[in-house]
Amino acid sequence: MNKPTDMKAAETVPLWIDGRRQAAQSTRAGDVTNPATGEIVRKVPFCNDADIDAAVQAAKAAFPKWRKTPSLRRARILMRYRELINEHRDELASLITEEHGKTHVDALGSVQRGLEVVEFAMGIPHLMKGEHSEEVGTDVDTHSLREPLGVCAGITPFNFPAMVPMWMYPVAIACGNTFVLKPSEKVPSTAMRLAELFKEAGLPDGVLNVVHGDKQAVDSILAHPDIRAVSFVGSTPIAKYIYETCAKHGKRVQALGGAKNHAVVLPDADLDFAADALIGAGYGSAGERCMAISAIVAVGDCGDALVEKLRSRAADLKIGPGTGKDIDMGPLVTAAHRDKVAGYVDKGVAEGAKLVLDGRNYKAAGHEKGYFLGATLFDDVKPDMTIYKDEIFGPVLGVVRVKTLDEAIALVNANPYANGVAVFTRSGGAARKFEREIEVGMVGINVPIPVPVAFFSFGGWRGSLFGDTHVHGMEGVRYYTRAKVVTTRWPDADALPTGFHMPTLG
Ligand code: NAD
Repeated sequence: MNKPTDMKAAETVPLWIDGRRQAAQSTRAGDVTNPATGEIVRKVPFCNDADIDAAVQAAKAAFPKWRKTPSLRRARILMRYRELINEHRDELASLITEEHGKTHVDALGSVQRGLEVVEFAMGIPHLMKGEHSEEVGTDVDTHSLREPLGVCAGITPFNFPAMVPMWMYPVAIACGNTFVLKPSEKVPSTAMRLAELFKEAGLPDGVLNVVHGDKQAVDSILAHPDIRAVSFVGSTPIAKYIYETCAKHGKRVQALGGAKNHAVVLPDADLDFAADALIGAGYGSAGERCMAISAIVAVGDCGDALVEKLRSRAADLKIGPGTGKDIDMGPLVTAAHRDKVAGYVDKGVAEGAKLVLDGRNYKAAGHEKGYFLGATLFDDVKPDMTIYKDEIFGPVLGVVRVKTLDEAIALVNANPYANGVAVFTRSGGAARKFEREIEVGMVGINVPIPVPVAFFSFGGWRGSLFGDTHVHGMEGVRYYTRAKVVTTRWPDADALPTGFHMPTLG
């Protein structure tokens, strides 16, 4: 495993503007910590309006030439980029583990999922093709084309420092846009390396820029008149704010929010298979995945057996630093987040849920200052409890018991979040009913984390997405382009049409 080489300890993370590292003009800054040790590993600047404007101006200046660059040439740069990310995946994963805390293997997997979007984006010249119809009127032809928007921006969360940014900028850039990325201030370094590698692959200066910061930087992006479209991924209240603010400023927006993902387990399911799948889906990445399962709905009489299988597996998880050998689950991202999640466990107990496994007192040997929490399991969770209603975003699984599949479907459909859902069953009929009646964006049938591959689109419904389009896949291409329809006639000079009536062309 490589040690991150390019970011020296305790240095201030630079911005990436116009193809080079630049210092921020803002003097506000925050700490980036290593969650496994609690140490401050570097500082991150909190950009002000001048910093954001510098990045946007670089992107704006680069746009005309990038837009005119033949799409195949753009795709070839992405092909080289793909190779470079692949060569550097170990280094990227190490940066992710250092700042986020997830295990190295898990971080590698997330780099791979991001890489797959780059692979998808290499084929975008094909997807940007328009349509053409001849003789829509006498001597009149019509064709449509998809044009890039201009400067696009991405604002991303802490939990996937490589993958979520890569849901956005490779697609936007392949479509001919230029981009300003603001990664989470908790995990700023991976995005910097990704930008540097893109330049190494041949990306012209200014096409991708990286800025850092908190609400001030975000507000500056949302209000900037030269930014045409904003892609956001993060928690639901901020996603709603981004959506409303962008609409006010006349910007195109897609804002993906938080989640409360259910797994419905039917009595006919293979319970060992389901329990194995749910342990990974609930506790992998310490539950800090937007597609993590956090509510398990045990249908009929399978509850007792399922809870015991979950308890025994969860109790055996190896918890420690993400750099450790055979570690299943790392720490939470910050001390504040660890305390917030532990507070939810207190609340679950106070509100009467049955605490089957308590992770609150877990200490990782040799890493006592790390932000660790053990795997926690509740049974008899009721829909009116805080631990059911809120997104916890930690290693806490709650089992809700219902009598029928219909009751399970109604419970999931009544939840304000609707990102992912899974059903475990051996019955094709039950699975088909579930697929058709469930009102959630991404559905897994015996698949606990149904994250679509890059050539499909990713996105939830209800409070998990504000906006009309999902990310990557065809929806991503549509999002980062706009349609133009051209109607053409080449008349003889002496046959120009005249008149004030509604043209019918025929
Ligand atoms: P967050 O909402 O706190 O932050 C996301 C981004 O918004 C960051 O870049 C942050 O700097 C910025 N931000 C934070 N507060 C802001 C404010 N008041 N005004 C403007 N911008 C602000 O989310 P997080 O804690 O980084 O990430 C975890 C959340 O993201 C969870 O809710 C998780 O479910 C969600 N998430 C969703 C998806 C999805 O695909 N739907 C994917 C990953 C994460």
